[in-house]
Amino acid sequence: MSTIIDGKAFSANLRADLAKKVTILKDKHNITPGLAVILVGEDPASQVYVRSKGKQTAEAGMNSYEHKLDESTSQEDLLALIDKLNNDADVHGILVQLPLPKHIDEFTVINAVAAHKDVDGFHLSNVGLLSTGGEGIVPCTPLGSTMLLKDQLGNLSGKKAIVIGRSNIVGKPMLALLLKESCTVTIAHSRTQNLEDECRQADIVVAAVGIPEMVKGDWIKPGATVIDVGINRIEKEDGSTKLVGDVDFGTASEVAGAITPVPGGVGPMTIACLLHNAVQQACRINGIEMDDLA
Ligand code: NAD
Repeated sequence: MSTIIDGKAFSANLRADLAKKVTILKDKHNITPGLAVILVGEDPASQVYVRSKGKQTAEAGMNSYEHKLDESTSQEDLLALIDKLNNDADVHGILVQLPLPKHIDEFTVINAVAAHKDVDGFHLSNVGLLSTGGEGIVPCTPLGSTMLLKDQLGNLSGKKAIVIGRSNIVGKPMLALLLKESCTVTIAHSRTQNLEDECRQADIVVAAVGIPEMVKGDWIKPGATVIDVGINRIEKEDGSTKLVGDVDFGTASEVAGAITPVPGGVGPMTIACLLHNAVQQACRINGIEMDDLA
């Protein structure tokens, strides 16, 4: 059986460490990191995410500013709010919850957030910095996945990795992060041929596809480390539902050296990394070295 990578415990430690840093920022520098979250509309999943983000932000001792806007809010009004937050010195991070209603252009909105407050790491300037090895803001889910990998394996240099999925929010930034760690990376997607064979070559498998339990145990090289980013709700035979990943945990956990479960693997890392990014930006904006807050 594989080692189960406990993202819940890792993220709890990360949040506890951030809370200590926040206390030092308050006591020594009179700065309280502030995270603003904007939710447009009533999407139920988004409402759940926004609630947990607000709760965990407050638990870390940070200021949480929630802006809930009506589904019919115009793009102009949303951009005006973002502009106000961009210029608010108490706000160090701004997150616009996606997806947005259809009449609002996501690209315009994402790039209206000031790059140094873009705690999602989706602004073109942060995307460019990540792919050129610069110091920008790294998207939360790939950042959390990389933290788990480094904690599990130590140095990733020279390892062969496959990222399944090429989305802008997970697959592509994951590719950039693994390259930065000097892995040899294959990125696979819906048109990839012989995916199973590609997968069997990899020491590290990152699955971010959105297809329940797609990656089977016999796709995994014995001893490989598997990071399952997928979150899929499926119906059980009795009509109730459960969450599963993009990896078939039952068969994969018999072959892999280590594997993240769903839930309790990558999922909890995403909000912890959001808080990390907000504290990091509060430090950077004020010229403070985050690592010195100990
Ligand atoms: P997406 O739909 O934007 O991208 C999916 C990718 O998978 C695409 O690049 C596509 O080419 C690829 N793909 C589709 N079918 C494939 C196939 N048969 N073989 C190989 N590749 C295939 O999805 P996303 O936003 O990147 O999310 C991926 C998964 O990760 C989803 O389950 C999502 O819920 C989950 N997710 C989890 C977190 C988290 O916090 N843990 C955050 C973001 C996304």
